[in-house]
Amino acid sequence: MVGVQKKSKFKKVDRGGRFGRFKSRQSRRMVSTKVPGGRTVVHFKEKQPSKAKCGGCGKVLAGVARARPHKMRKMAKTKKRPTRPYGGNLCSPCMRKKILAGVRNV
Ligand SMILES: [Zn+2]
Repeated sequence: MVGVQKKSKFKKVDRGGRFGRFKSRQSRRMVSTKVPGGRTVVHFKEKQPSKAKCGGCGKVLAGVARARPHKMRKMAKTKKRPTRPYGGNLCSPCMRKKILAGVRNV
């Protein structure tokens, strides 16, 4: 087999700028997955949004849901953020500072 170029298993297919069967890659990412048959195929998975951060110190907020907008819309309000003043915007130490600062200024 000298001089014979090995053919690629994968054909180049023009999908007209599409991302798999999806219109755009904006909300999807490519993941190589091994299927039960032994092949490795590409799956198009939904991207995850970035974690919510505190508006005061920039720390990652705990108890704040991380999902795409269509899932967030279905989620209960209590599942999306902690139920306290500034919940989902500030971490608890920053909230405490803010409330104390507000009281002291009055
Ligand atoms: Zn903070």
